[in-house]
Amino acid sequence: MARPHILIVEDEPGIADTLSYALRTEGFDPLCCATGEAALQQVAQQLPALVILDVGLPDINGFELFKRLRERADVPVVFLTARSDEIDRVVGLELGADDYVAKPFSPRELVARVRTVLRRTARGAAAPAPATPAVPVPAPAVLPVEVDDGRRRIRYYGHALDLSRYEYGLLRTLAARPGHVYSRDALLRLVWDDATESFDRTVDAHVKTLRAKLKAVAPTLEAIVTHRGAGYALAEDLPATLPAQ
Ligand code: CA
Repeated sequence: MARPHILIVEDEPGIADTLSYALRTEGFDPLCCATGEAALQQVAQQLPALVILDVGLPDINGFELFKRLRERADVPVVFLTARSDEIDRVVGLELGADDYVAKPFSPRELVARVRTVLRRTARGAAAPAPATPAVPVPAPAVLPVEVDDGRRRIRYYGHALDLSRYEYGLLRTLAARPGHVYSRDALLRLVWDDATESFDRTVDAHVKTLRAKLKAVAPTLEAIVTHRGAGYALAEDLPATLPAQ
């Protein structure tokens, strides 16, 4: 099977090189462009299986480039973001990006995201088997929490959840980094449009209703862990399959 072609649009050579190396090692065929203009030209020549797109480019805003790319082809896009306001826009998913990774990130994490997006979208060629099975990729075939950004839908053990906008944003944010503790402030910033008009208790209230919906699917599991004084995290140790009730 051909190695999936991944276009990296990133103007920082250090990051581009690191990513390129990690993807090549994992069986992909990466190509780097440092500007939006170069990326558009490259896409016109060869449609990649997926685009990794830095938001902060020298010639054109990454969001604008995203729109232009999508005008040409329905290619999956994973954003690289450096600032919280960029994350806000991507998390808000007004754009319909497939995923995002916040800098600094580990190359392995990003490769795992690329695999997951390719598997989910199945628009490009299938992701190749890892070249080095010694390095486990932290992306099991079935995840307890499956986020489908395109449909704005989250499945929990295969059950489609009926979530409000903020419940969706909360769970999507927590699920992006299982085990990572998000403070209430961080969640307000990431999920709410206007954090200044919201309060810590707003987060708590939505976590409460979100928990109830998760409990309705899996009554014995604590999917969202409260870290007293610190915030909330998605449990890292959720079983791969729903426990027998
Ligand atoms: Ca940049």
